[in-house]
Amino acid sequence: MTMAANESDSRFDWASVELHPNLPMPVFTSTERWREERIGALALYCSDGRWGEAFDEFCHRHLHIPRYDRWALPGGPAWLVPRPDKPDFHPAVQEQLDFLIKIHEVEQIVLITHFGCAYYGQRLQRAPLDCLPEQADDARKAASTLRHLHPNVKVEAYLAMRSLNWLSFHRLDTQ
Ligand SMILES: [Zn+2]
Repeated sequence: MTMAANESDSRFDWASVELHPNLPMPVFTSTERWREERIGALALYCSDGRWGEAFDEFCHRHLHIPRYDRWALPGGPAWLVPRPDKPDFHPAVQEQLDFLIKIHEVEQIVLITHFGCAYYGQRLQRAPLDCLPEQADDARKAASTLRHLHPNVKVEAYLAMRSLNWLSFHRLDTQ
């Protein structure tokens, strides 16, 4: 019984699918299966692809938020922090945030800033360790801004650290 179910699950019944007549043949089919329900969690972190798998693992295995919404921008939470030269959010960031919270039904936001972020290195012209205080401060400000704008959304912030090739995550106090 179980075997039959697994078998039918793993076999793809192309005959049951109506492809658009102009659609080319698939070049790849994912082993992942579609799941309809949203889980209401979003993580905002840097787009640096060298960290992506670790961010995923942290969110999946530690925070237990499978299939969370990924909002990846260079510098991550930095974009939620008003700066003297840009007193308001960038309108596109504001629009994305509002969309995600309303339409994707986000109730939990995880902010992650990471050691050695090139966005901060370039902006501050400092060594990675010397950027960390400002990064942590930005993550706290971003959390406070989010709580102010969306009081019903649960917000938490983390620093992703690297020592040689070991990656660790540290919770930032944002209260
Ligand atoms: Zn970065």
